[in-house]
Parts: sequence; C-alpha cells; structure tokens
Amino acid sequence: MRTKGKITEVFSSVQGEGLYFGEEQLFVRFFGCNLKCKFCDTPLDRFTEYEPEELLQEVKLYKNGHCTVAFTGGEPLLQKYFLKAVLKLTKKEGYKNYLETNGILHSALEDVIDYVDIIAMDLKLPSSTGLKDFWHYHRRFLEVASKKEAFLKMVICHSTNEEDLREGLRLIHEVNKFLILILQPNSYEDSQTMREKLELFKDIARDNHITACIIPQLHKKIGIK
Ligand code: SF4
Repeated sequence: MRTKGKITEVFSSVQGEGLYFGEEQLFVRFFGCNLKCKFCDTPLDRFTEYEPEELLQEVKLYKNGHCTVAFTGGEPLLQKYFLKAVLKLTKKEGYKNYLETNGILHSALEDVIDYVDIIAMDLKLPSSTGLKDFWHYHRRFLEVASKKEAFLKMVICHSTNEEDLREGLRLIHEVNKFLILILQPNSYEDSQTMREKLELFKDIARDNHITACIIPQLHKKIGIK
C-alpha cells in the first residue's frame, strides 16, 4: 500500500535509554501517540509528510557513523503501513531497525515484525502513567516481540506502586522470563527516595528471577537531544 507518513523530526544523536544506551543512532520520530502518559515530554506538535522513499533519502544523508535507525515517537505502530514500507527500505540498505514502542498495538507489530531487528518495549504501569492498565495488550505484544531481540522498560515515578511492578514481573515471567527489564527513573523526579525505590524494585525483580537494570536517561543527564 502506497502511503505517506507523518514525521515529527529526523536527527542524529546518542541513544539515551535502554540496553543500547550510548550507541550513536539515527532517530526518526513518528507523529502521534495513542496514549497520554502524565510524564510525557515528547514534542509532538508538528509534522512533515514523507513518502517512504523520501524518508529513506533523508536517513541516508546521515549515513556516516550510523548503523542503526531508531523508529520512535509518539507511537510508530500507529502508522503501520508507512512504517512497514520504510522498514523494508532501511533494511535493504543494511541498517539495523530499532523500534521504540509503548507495547500496546500487537496486531500492528505482527504486521511489521519481519523487518524489525530490535524492540525496545515499554510496560506502562498505571501508577506511573496516570492511565488505565494495559496488561492484556502488553501480554499479546510481548508474545509477538519475543520472536526478535527485545527488552522492556518501566518508567518509575514517585507515584509508582509495588503492586504494578509485581504485576509487570508476573507478566514477564509468564511470557519470557529471559527478557531484561530496564527500570528508568522519571528524569524530573530524581531524589534519595527515588533512588531507594529503584533499589527496592531491582531487588524485588531479582527475587522474582527477572534481571532488572537501573538506567537513567543519558541524553537528559548530559544535555543532548
Ligand atoms: S507513550 Fe510515549 S510518546 Fe506516548 S504519551 Fe506516553 S510517553 Fe508520550
């Protein structure tokens, strides 16, 4: 299907989150999101429309030094037809396709997964986001994501409760206990209490046989995009 995509920005930077923390990547930020997390600070107020081939040409302008293209948002899977077309093109050019997603749109993931190399999936905890729970969607999503290299991320806020953490750990344990869980503190809530909470959550994960790592957002710490 021929379709245009809405893209907020294309830029080169260092991956600031998750297991690929520190890798130089080329970021393609998709416009639009299906959620409204209370801690969201993603700029999603503008977009430019691209044909898949036009976006590839823009990506190729940055070719030197990048082997990975990070498709981020917003939620890239909201534009699955366009995303699939671009993933095919970037893969053909030899890039690694890295998908950052809120882990809810599992049918869309099924449609594109053949062209994705790495999945960085959020587990949205209601006590962190201020939204309802998405456990059912996360379970289905994780089942699909487990076909590829994947890892999970929970944003931890002062409001995050242990019950949500335990529900998330149960889910990981049941679907794929070998996935690594990143505990990412909300960058605006750094404090001694937060550090103690992160340590406690890491210990609870370990006691539940899940590997959890505390990784803050690097780009915010060092003041880059
Ligand atoms: S899923 Fe991500 S982009 Fe969407 S509202 Fe939540 S933090 Fe913002």
